[in-house]
Amino acid sequence: MTHYMGGASYTVGATQNISVKTSSLLREFGGEVFVDANVHGIIIEDGRAVGVRVSNEKMLAECTSEAEKASIVITEIRAKNVVCATSIYNLYNKLLPQNLPIVKKFRDPNKRTVRQSNGHVFLFCKIKGDATELGLPTHNLWYFNGYDLDGAFDEYFANPTEVRPPTVYIGFPCTKDITWKKRFPGISNCIMISDGLYEWFEKYADKPCRHRSNEYMEFKEKLTRHLLDILYEFVPETKGRVEYHHLGTPLSEITYLTSFRAGSYGVSATCMCSFWKGYWLHYVEWIKFLG
Ligand SMILES: Cc1cc2nc3c(=O)[nH]c(=O)nc-3n(C[C@H](O)[C@H](O)[C@H](O)COP(=O)(O)OP(=O)(O)OC[C@H]3O[C@@H](n4cnc5c(N)ncnc54)[C@H](O)[C@@H]3O)c2cc1C
Repeated sequence: MTHYMGGASYTVGATQNISVKTSSLLREFGGEVFVDANVHGIIIEDGRAVGVRVSNEKMLAECTSEAEKASIVITEIRAKNVVCATSIYNLYNKLLPQNLPIVKKFRDPNKRTVRQSNGHVFLFCKIKGDATELGLPTHNLWYFNGYDLDGAFDEYFANPTEVRPPTVYIGFPCTKDITWKKRFPGISNCIMISDGLYEWFEKYADKPCRHRSNEYMEFKEKLTRHLLDILYEFVPETKGRVEYHHLGTPLSEITYLTSFRAGSYGVSATCMCSFWKGYWLHYVEWIKFLG
């Protein structure tokens, strides 16, 4: 949580504005931005990345069989430099040719110390009423299920529908975006984020989004129940006012974030990584203070 010590920024309006503004800037400088473009692979020639193979993401999402997927048109885009800005797991498991020695080395668990982060579940809620009138918190809340966090994680990962999640982030974006009240008068929103394993959902992964079984929906409902109970306990102002809620799962992370096996953060954070990040931020704060 050290990353909030110096305050945090928030987008004005929809978060999408960040990508809209960034792409306009890129186009102003003569660049081009392709959306709905799924990179299938990086083209390697003479040991160098020289381009990418791309197809239309929407068409790909609508395919119901491997045969259909195989019939989608693939375009090659050549470039002087290729930068991959998706996770290292996507890079090594999906985008690079699998016969490269460096890929084989990455996939060998004995030659790798990093491990992949787990996934998350996200509960999006629509709440009836204006945030100020309801007295919703403008700060973020963190719920911890006890002091033995390792134990709480083990219990939850083994039995996610029976025990409460170990940690939950609770935030009310409506209280931070200065345009919210104008855009959605009389309505508030809340997002809750907790951990979730891809392995819990793997058996439902073969069906596309919104076409998954009742069993999947029931599983989601049980996870949702715990999250809503926590919300009502810690922010009682919301009780009886949640008009709509929707739970995103690790499978949603694959659909919308293209995370490899739902590894939300790519590489998993370690204690050392968190320590150095915190140390560096404090150091920056001290420089600001002294300077
Ligand atoms: C649950 C959660 C909570 C977080 N909370 C915070 C927070 O509070 N504060 C904070 O600072 N950070 C937070 N983060 C981290 C932050 O979101 C990431 O660090 C940041 O988004 C990384 O940006 P990026 O551009 O490197 O990668 P990404 O945002 O992952 O962008 C990679 C892009 O590549 C696209 N892509 C992937 N594969 C392909 C392909 N084959 N073809 C085409 N496109 C592809 C993806 O769709 C994606 O748009 C959180 C992340 C998660 C998951």
